[in-house]
Amino acid sequence: MIPASFDYVRATSLREAVDLLQQDPDSTKLVAGGHTLIPTLKLRLASPALLVDIRNLKELKGIEIGDWVRIGALTTHAELLASNELYDVLPIFRQAADIIADPQVRNRGTIGGSLANADPAADWPAVVTALKAELEIMGPSGSRRIGARDFFLDIFTTALEVDEVLVAIHISRPDAGTRFRYRKIRHPASGYAVVGVAVGVSLADGVVSEASIGVTGAAGHAFAAEAATGYLIGKALLRETIEMTARLASEQAPCLSDHYASAEYRQHLVKTEVARALTSLIAVP
Ligand SMILES: Cc1cc2nc3c(=O)[nH]c(=O)nc-3n(C[C@H](O)[C@H](O)[C@H](O)COP(=O)(O)OP(=O)(O)OC[C@H]3O[C@@H](n4cnc5c(N)ncnc54)[C@H](O)[C@@H]3O)c2cc1C
Repeated sequence: MIPASFDYVRATSLREAVDLLQQDPDSTKLVAGGHTLIPTLKLRLASPALLVDIRNLKELKGIEIGDWVRIGALTTHAELLASNELYDVLPIFRQAADIIADPQVRNRGTIGGSLANADPAADWPAVVTALKAELEIMGPSGSRRIGARDFFLDIFTTALEVDEVLVAIHISRPDAGTRFRYRKIRHPASGYAVVGVAVGVSLADGVVSEASIGVTGAAGHAFAAEAATGYLIGKALLRETIEMTARLASEQAPCLSDHYASAEYRQHLVKTEVARALTSLIAVP
C-alpha cells in the first residue's frame, strides 16, 4: 500500500499544467481530489514519475449560471450538492451528488476527476450524457469542446488525450419545467452505481416534448438510451409507455457481468430504474 516514488509539482496555471503534461505525457498524471488516483498509486496500478496537482487552478473552479451552465472541472461533489443556484436550474446535480459515496469522498472528489477517470460505475457520466453536456478540454494546441456522448469510449477510457486537461462542463440551460430524476442501485460496499439512470423529461399539453436518458453502471461506459427516448417523445407518460421505454433502454447496450451482478441482472435493473425514474416524474408539478 505504499506508492512508488514520484515527483510532485503544484501547477499555478492551466498553461503550466498542460506544459508539464506535454513534457512526458506517459509518465505524468494530474491529481485533482486524489480519491481515485491515490488508491491507484498505493496499489501500484499506476506508477507515474510526476504528479501535477491542479487543485489551485482557478480556471477549473466555480459554477456559473446563465443561458449555459458552466461547472469547473474541480467542482467537488459536495459543492454540487450544496449549490442552491444550480439546484434551481438543474436539480439532477443535487439528486446525484447526494448519493455519491460518503461526505469524506464528496468533500474531496471532483466532477472533472470522475469524468476523466470514466469508471463504468461512476455517477456523473450518466448525468452529463443525459444533459448532452459539452466538455471543455485544454491541450497543447488550444481549447476544444466535445459532446459528453462522444467522450466516453470504453471502461476507464475517454476521448481525452494524455496531454490534455478537462477544464469545465457546459450545459445548455433547460426550459423551466423540465423534470429531472437521478436514481441508482448502489453497490453496498462502495456506493458506486451497479446501475444508475439520469432522466430528463419536458411535457407540453400532456405529452413528452423532449426526453433524455443517460445510463451508467450497466455497460463499459455511460450511454444515452436513444431508442427509448425516441419512442417516448410524443407520448403521454402512461404506465404502458413507461414500461416500453424502460424495456427499450435496457436493450440498448450489452451489459457487464462481474461477481456482484450478472449482465442479465444489470439489464433488469436498467429497466426497473428507468421505469421508477419516469414514474416519479409523473407527479412533479
Ligand atoms: C470510497 C469511495 C467511494 C466512492 N464512491 C463513488 C460513488 O458512489 N460514485 C462515484 O461516481 N464515484 C465514487 N467514488 C469516486 C470519487 O467520486 C472520485 O473522487 C472521483 O471519481 C475522482 O475524482 P478526483 O477528483 O478524486 O480525481 P483524482 O483521483 O484526482 O483523478 C482521477 C483521474 O482523473 C484524472 N484527472 C483528474 N482531474 C482531471 C482533469 N481536470 N483533467 C484531466 N484529467 C483529470 C487524474 O489524472 C486521474 O487519472 C468513490 C471513491 C471512493 C474512494
